[in-house]
Amino acid sequence: MKLHEYQARRMLIESGIPAPPAEVVDTAEQAAEAYQRLVDGGAAFCVVKAQVHAGGRGKGGGVKLVRSADEARDAAQAIFSKPLVTHQTGPEGVPVRKLLVAAAIDIEREFYLGVTVDRGRGCPVLIASAEGGVEIEEVAKANPDAILRIPVHPLMGLEAYRAREAAFQLGLHGKQIGQAVRIMLALAALFTKADAALLEINPLALTPADDENPDGRLLAIDAKLSIDDNALFRQSKARDFFDPTEEDPAELKAHEHGLSYIKLDGNIGCLVNGAGLAMSTMDIIKLHGGEPANFLDVGGSASEEAVTEAFRIILSDANVQGVLVNIFGGIMQCDRIARAIIAAAEQVGFTVPLVVRLEGTNVEQARQIIDEAKQQIPVLQTANDLTDAAQKVCAAVA
Ligand code: GDP
Ligand code: MG
Repeated sequence: MKLHEYQARRMLIESGIPAPPAEVVDTAEQAAEAYQRLVDGGAAFCVVKAQVHAGGRGKGGGVKLVRSADEARDAAQAIFSKPLVTHQTGPEGVPVRKLLVAAAIDIEREFYLGVTVDRGRGCPVLIASAEGGVEIEEVAKANPDAILRIPVHPLMGLEAYRAREAAFQLGLHGKQIGQAVRIMLALAALFTKADAALLEINPLALTPADDENPDGRLLAIDAKLSIDDNALFRQSKARDFFDPTEEDPAELKAHEHGLSYIKLDGNIGCLVNGAGLAMSTMDIIKLHGGEPANFLDVGGSASEEAVTEAFRIILSDANVQGVLVNIFGGIMQCDRIARAIIAAAEQVGFTVPLVVRLEGTNVEQARQIIDEAKQQIPVLQTANDLTDAAQKVCAAVA
């Protein structure tokens, strides 16, 4: 589950990681008011930032520095006025519903700090780079040596000496070292405590030296946090951060019915039981020249209603020009799928070709139900095996 920047930032601050003060707003007028309050509180200027679950907002026009309340209002209006397109959103972009207005700082250098799971080592890993601000994936490609990877001990956490070593390698000096070590230790601890899958500060900004801070200050000015979905049962605070408006409505609906559904770009809707079978079904569709419109695993114990809902979700996708049902009845009984096909035909109606391949528990009853339904559902074809099914559905949409 992804969090918004403003939510992740709150968790960083609670963990003792310094970040400039900020307010979340829903309207341009509120952005102007927030600007005034932040400047009254000591900010020299502010930054207005789109709150969406996608990175690369700066380049997409979703991050704007502003130097007056009027500029804050105008920037907010401009960001709210159209979907934000970044390299992570696709060309249609995403609507912006909330903005963060943050006290802005002058930046001398930008660093990258992140923690994720290193599956090879079987432990979290702190990733640090002096080439921050830009996409870390780009740095990894162009200049892999500029990235430090420091394993985090699974029981002891990040060891302080390793953090110090990393701070020196980043080119920090003087009082910057202590600041960086505190931030790295807090970041690694928060990663574990929050059951995070990814926790990033990009950039961690170094401010220019001033009288109060002769070596400058290190501040988190962006934050990204995603929580491992399997741990949400014990991350009640993170659960409260869930923002359904950032999710695909069909995926949300599927989730409510206990279905795993992920929308894809093709035109062949798939209804399958079991994640492995769903993936091999997608593979075989592609092998025969087709493109799957979705991944959909109804699981072993879905009710007839849930399977009917699954058909409703698939058929509500305007790109779907054919549907392939591929069921291996183990715990799932084939006749339940067959009855759901009839129910979906009655309640939703099949207007596109439907190819059904069933095997396993109660397949005889299921075949009987399907054969009797063929009259009612003229678009229905049956298939003998997976290859036959894939060929038929690919031919039907060609
Ligand atoms: P992202 O593009 O979605 O990663 O959004 P960021 O929050 O990382 O902002 C993008 C860029 O905007 C940063 O890398 C900075 O260069 C710039 N930026 C953000 N906040 C500030 C700020 O307070 N002061 C200055 N000078 N630049 C900022
Ligand atoms: Mg960033």
